[in-house]
Parts: sequence; C-alpha cells; structure tokens
Amino acid sequence: MPEIKIKCSEHTEMIETIPQVKQPEIFHTMMTMEHEQLVFCSDQATGLRAIIAIHNTVLGPAMGGTRMWNYQSEAEAIKDALRLSRGMTLKNAIAGLNIGGGKAVIIGDARKIKNEAFMRRFGKFVNSLNGKYWTAEDVNMSARDMEYIRMETPFVTGIPESMGGSGDPSPVTGFGVYMGMKAAAKKAYGSDDLKGKKIIVQGAGNVGSYLIGYLIKENAEVFVSDIFEDKIAAITKAYPSVKVVDASAIIDEKMDIYAPCALGATLNENTIPRLKCAIVAGGANNQLDVEDQDAQALKDRGIVYAPDFLINAGGITNVFAEQQGNYNKARVMEHTERIYGVCLEVLNYAEQNGVTTHRAAVQLAMDRINAIGKVKISY
Ligand code: NAD
Repeated sequence: MPEIKIKCSEHTEMIETIPQVKQPEIFHTMMTMEHEQLVFCSDQATGLRAIIAIHNTVLGPAMGGTRMWNYQSEAEAIKDALRLSRGMTLKNAIAGLNIGGGKAVIIGDARKIKNEAFMRRFGKFVNSLNGKYWTAEDVNMSARDMEYIRMETPFVTGIPESMGGSGDPSPVTGFGVYMGMKAAAKKAYGSDDLKGKKIIVQGAGNVGSYLIGYLIKENAEVFVSDIFEDKIAAITKAYPSVKVVDASAIIDEKMDIYAPCALGATLNENTIPRLKCAIVAGGANNQLDVEDQDAQALKDRGIVYAPDFLINAGGITNVFAEQQGNYNKARVMEHTERIYGVCLEVLNYAEQNGVTTHRAAVQLAMDRINAIGKVKISY
C-alpha cells in the first residue's frame, strides 16, 4: 500500500507523511491524521465486522455515512475509514454545518451478507457511542438499512420519509455535484452551460444516477461506466440517450468533464497523466490518492479540479437538517445551491494564490474550524 503524503497548511509549509496503515501503527496514524477515536465492532452471530472512525468533534458530534465494501484486507478498511472520516471533517466545515467528521465502514459483500439482523447489530454499536457519532447512507447502504439501524439507535439519519426522516440523501448530493460542476465549467470555459459537453460519469449508483438526471436535462452528452450490468441497465433504461463506456477504459477516453462517482483514489499518479479532460468534478469521496501531490499534478496539467468534499456536501447537508429536527427540503436545496458560489470562490482563490484547488478548499474548511473551535487543528 502506498504512503499517503499530506502537505500541511500553506502557512506552515510543513509536510507530513502518513505511514501506511498497519495494525501496530494505528495509534501513530491516528495521531498523524489527528483522529480522536477508532472503534472496532465485531459480532460473531451476524458476521459483522465494522470500524467507526471519529476524526474531529470540534464543530459538533461526528457525522458521516456508513460504507459497506468487500475490502481485501483489514488494513485497507482501516485506511478507508480514516481517510473518509477526515474528509467528513473538512466537508462538514466547508458546508457550514455544525457537526464534526466521522465515518463507518463495514467489511463484506453487501450483496451477500447484509440483512436485518446484521444492520441492527451495527445499529447497537452506533448506539453505544451515545451520539458522539451519527450515521447515514454511503456506498452499498439504503434508506431501508437506516431503518434497521433506527430500530436500535436514534443516532441515525437518512431514514425513510415514511418514518419521519429525510430519506435517501443522494438526490441532494447529486444536485450539489451538479452545482460544483457548473462552477468548474464557469472557471474553465467562462460559461457554466453544460450543453453538448462530453461528460463521463464513473459509477451508476445513487449519486451518479441523480447527477446524470441533471446533466441530461441540460443536454450534455453523457457517458457512464459501472462494474455491474444491472446498474448500467437501470441508467440506460431511465435515460436512453446515455452511452456506456467500459469501466476499464474510462480514464483513456477523451472527454470534457470526468465525474468520478464510484470509489476514491481514482486520481493518482497512474491516471492523472492519462486524463484527457478540462475538468474533474464528481461525487466520490477521496478522489485524490495522495492528496497534495495529485492535486498539484492536476493543476500542472491545467485540469480544473472541483474539490470532492466541497461539491459532494449536499447529502450531509440534507441529513444534518434531519438531525436538527427541523427538516425543510426547500431550505436544504437552497443551502446546497450555495456550493456553486463557494466552489467558484475556491477555484478563483487557488488561481490567484498559486495553490491547488484542493489546498484552497482545505484552508477554507480549516479556517472555519479554527475560528470556531477552541482546539487548533492543522493538516
Ligand atoms: P453507490 O453504491 O450507490 O454507487 C457506487 C457505484 O459505483 C455502484 O454502482 C458501483 O457498482 C460503482 N462502481 C464501483 N467501482 C467502480 C468502478 N471501478 N468503475 C465504475 N463503477 C464502479 O454509492 P453512492 O451513494 O452513489 O456513492 C458514490 C460515491 O459518492 C462514494 O464515493 C460515496 O462515498 C460518495 N458520496 C455519496 C453520498 C451520498 O449521498 N450517497 C454523499 C457524498 C459522497
């Protein structure tokens, strides 16, 4: 597993090297990445193996979705939990929400081992944290799963509307990504009109499919890739004009905009030199493999990168409103629409100050945390 290199604040000019996550080095990694807590959850009866990562609670209780994935190793799952929860701290801060960063990952094949008992057992573990961590949907999780978790704990959002919740947050995430993509287009082309732009969406899941809906409405030329046939079939049925690209060929395709909406780390030293696009703007978390290095590589290639944690904040904005108990969809959409302005501000700031767009967004998020919190944190 490669090392994660994270350059600290532009002001300090420090460079931190986060070592690869091996079990004996967990505390060192947590200290370096500034995590507060890592909770390992195991249940023999259901086969549940989950990790809850709480990164930072300066702004409020840690909040972030639960991801289920067939990780190849425990180290890979831990690394994902640490990276995702840290990303949530930045996302929640830049979105102006009063919550900290957390995330949970469940190890296993969601298509095979996920069921009511399994999800309820996970809910019990979430409950044991007494509200320090609030969960919601992420990859391979549905509103139905949140319903099972709700049977065991109140510390869950994204529960079905029929149960008084706000439902699946993905439509709002898709809208926010669309806003961020339009801001990036404004920066790259001088116009935010996406009509006729060739846009490849990687991942025909929840976020990808809602994003595609907006892009089709705007008459963009949309392509999609997924590793599952049924996902592709659902999209092409809903939007017959969408064309399909082979999942393994996507990076080498010529396109205007690349929208990663599957898993993280698709922007790395192998893929960035091959990209033939003007913009990267997608919903996936942790798109950059080695954050500052890969953000710099995109900048050097003249590709406008809309920071993932900035533009995919629609979903967390939605579930935060639900958590606050005064859910109002119109207000959530209005809040999410602001991603356009913040993204443009970040892209302009980066250009004017000669920093990467990722670094500019991190700085904005950190400024808010440091201004509000009593604890000074750095990246
Ligand atoms: P999802 O499971 O519904 O969709 C992910 C899709 O990506 C699946 O269809 C999967 O088959 C596909 N996929 C996986 N690997 C692929 C590959 N190599 N090539 C092509 N397709 C691939 O998950 P989602 O909820 O849509 O989340 C997608 C991404 O957006 C994740 O990174 C998630 O963390 C992030 N995100 C989601 C939300 C939300 O509201 N759901 C909010 C913020 C961020």
